[in-house]
Amino acid sequence: AKTKRGNQYRLYRDNMEEANDKWLLLETKLHQALKKDSLALHYQPKIDLKTDTIVGMEALLRWYDPELGHVPPDRFIPFAEECGLINDIGVWVLRKACAQARFWNQEYSLSLRVAVNISPIHISTHGFVDMVRKIITETAIDPHLLEIEITEMSMLDYTEELINTIKQLRALGITISLDDFGTGYSSLNYLKKFPVDVLKIDRAFVRDIVPEKSGIAMISAMISLAHALNLQVVAEGVEEEAELKVLREHGCEYVQGYYFSKPLSVEDFTNLIKQSSF
Ligand code: C2E
Ligand code: CA
Ligand code: CA
Ligand code: CA
Repeated sequence: AKTKRGNQYRLYRDNMEEANDKWLLLETKLHQALKKDSLALHYQPKIDLKTDTIVGMEALLRWYDPELGHVPPDRFIPFAEECGLINDIGVWVLRKACAQARFWNQEYSLSLRVAVNISPIHISTHGFVDMVRKIITETAIDPHLLEIEITEMSMLDYTEELINTIKQLRALGITISLDDFGTGYSSLNYLKKFPVDVLKIDRAFVRDIVPEKSGIAMISAMISLAHALNLQVVAEGVEEEAELKVLREHGCEYVQGYYFSKPLSVEDFTNLIKQSSF
């Protein structure tokens, strides 16, 4: 019995060490990727349903590692939040996206608004507004053409300080949107206090838009709620014509999704701009 337990212990310890090694490897690799500029941003167009034109794009992070392959952001962002790399990543993404948007707008005489995903951890960091202000100056982007998407958080995170930060960002002209709306924990009461401009309806709800299902009722209620609070609505993950039709009928302002376009590399997005009539 003694030997058996000993073996079990060793097995357990080996697994722990292995997990630890993997963790360290990932952290080292992500750190290097950031330093060597081997992360990339792809851009997914946002369509205005009133004009059926592209009015902006969401920057989405891509990481390709020769050994690990393509690591999806759903996997490495939570990891980066845990190991403390998320703030550096956020700064990198902001700078890159602002510079790219400024370039496209200058080069093609456009006013596209670029949306950047920022972790609630990062935005709650002291000095966040100053950092954003610095990047705006550095990249010469018009702050009215910058949008920050924040994921819906737990109620505990809605501190006075965070609300203050958001007010300061809006005062600069930046648009604030609440991402993944409907999937988090925030109550309607907090939504009332939270000073955002846009609600992004999560794909999970868009996917449920099928005639004869309660999906339409949900979407309709969410859009009404947003409008009652004077917020605009973006629906994400639109893949089907039928979904688009329902969203249009209920007065949704903007959509994103594979129906129009997947997130595109800089090169492909540039080609899209060249083909589009704005
Ligand atoms: P999100 O912010 O909710 O982004 C939407 C996700 O849905 C993206 O996945 C996008 O590629 C995908 N998507 C868009 N249209 C469709 C569609 O029609 N059908 C389907 N099935 N999917 C669609 P992605 O790029 O893998 O990003 C996943 C999540 O990772 C994002 O969810 C966001 O929370 C996070 N993320 C991505 N980039 C960044 C970043 O730069 N910073 C931070 N903090 N988080 C990021
Ligand atoms: Ca987003
Ligand atoms: Ca989402
Ligand atoms: Ca998300």
